[in-house]
Amino acid sequence: AAKGGRQGVNVYDEARDGHGRHRLEDVAQLRRALDQHELVLHYQPKLALSTGQIDGVEALVRWQHPTRGLLYPDSFIDLAESAGLMSRLTTQVIDMALAQARSWADEGRELTMAVNVSPSNLVDEQFPDHVAALLRDHGRSARSLVLEVTESLLMEDRERAVRVLGRLRDAGVGVAIDDYGTGHSSLAYLAALPVTELKLDRTFVSAMTGSARAESIVTSTLQLAHALGLVLVAEGAEDQATVDALANLGCDLVQGYHLSRPLPPEQLWLWLEDRATA
Ligand code: C2E
Ligand code: CA
Ligand code: CA
Ligand code: CA
Repeated sequence: AAKGGRQGVNVYDEARDGHGRHRLEDVAQLRRALDQHELVLHYQPKLALSTGQIDGVEALVRWQHPTRGLLYPDSFIDLAESAGLMSRLTTQVIDMALAQARSWADEGRELTMAVNVSPSNLVDEQFPDHVAALLRDHGRSARSLVLEVTESLLMEDRERAVRVLGRLRDAGVGVAIDDYGTGHSSLAYLAALPVTELKLDRTFVSAMTGSARAESIVTSTLQLAHALGLVLVAEGAEDQATVDALANLGCDLVQGYHLSRPLPPEQLWLWLEDRATA
């Protein structure tokens, strides 16, 4: 009751300053988007540098809005979080992503599926059970799924987040720290987290070929990741020189516009087929 009351006051305050009405409309539209399945996923491939094979994809949500066109997550993720819709959004995203992974597997291509999760998912003690149920529904193994979480997200309710992540890890689900290097986690904290991958933020990756400092950060992160038994993923590689430099340093996986932008599933499939026959 206390929580509901506080939300009521916020709505009232926002409505008074003129933003409220707008936001309430946006929330109603996002709710409708979830009900009517207006959210779609685009997929960006991850290349394994040691084999030259596509190891998996990251699912990135978009909103196919009936009048405003295709909306990118930066315009509605915060809204979903603050409106209490993130649990539904994430469940829907995982559901779609696993259905897609299953259908690609049925066509002969086994791909690891990475999905982004938000703070509210990691403080939800039921989240691991929801994930397990979705994996079962789609006949996918836990290790074929990687959940990407940001460092800042892990700082909010550490103990609970670590507990929830621990249960996901125990079930065999992969966990990646996204945007690694932009947060403030201590090395001790990092070493204690139940994670399987570090995803180095693209600010370091895109700067590495032009900056010795950025390259040192990549090199030392790589050493750290491997010393902790973690996979290192570099995101935001925009040219061949960066991909080559990452390969030389021994980075495991790379993702970025140079390889491919995030694509709708049919286009990603064509891209994979083209690559295989090239
Ligand atoms: P992220 O998880 O760090 O995802 C990477 C973002 O960088 C994506 O933007 C991707 O399109 C973009 N990107 C990929 N390669 C390159 C590159 O080479 N250069 C540059 N400049 N950018 C690149 P997008 O799709 O707009 O997503 C933005 C953020 O929204 C994501 O950042 C993630 O934090 C969030 N997000 C996306 N999908 C979901 C979702 O399903 N759930 C949640 N909770 N968050 C999501
Ligand atoms: Ca991500
Ligand atoms: Ca990222
Ligand atoms: Ca990001």
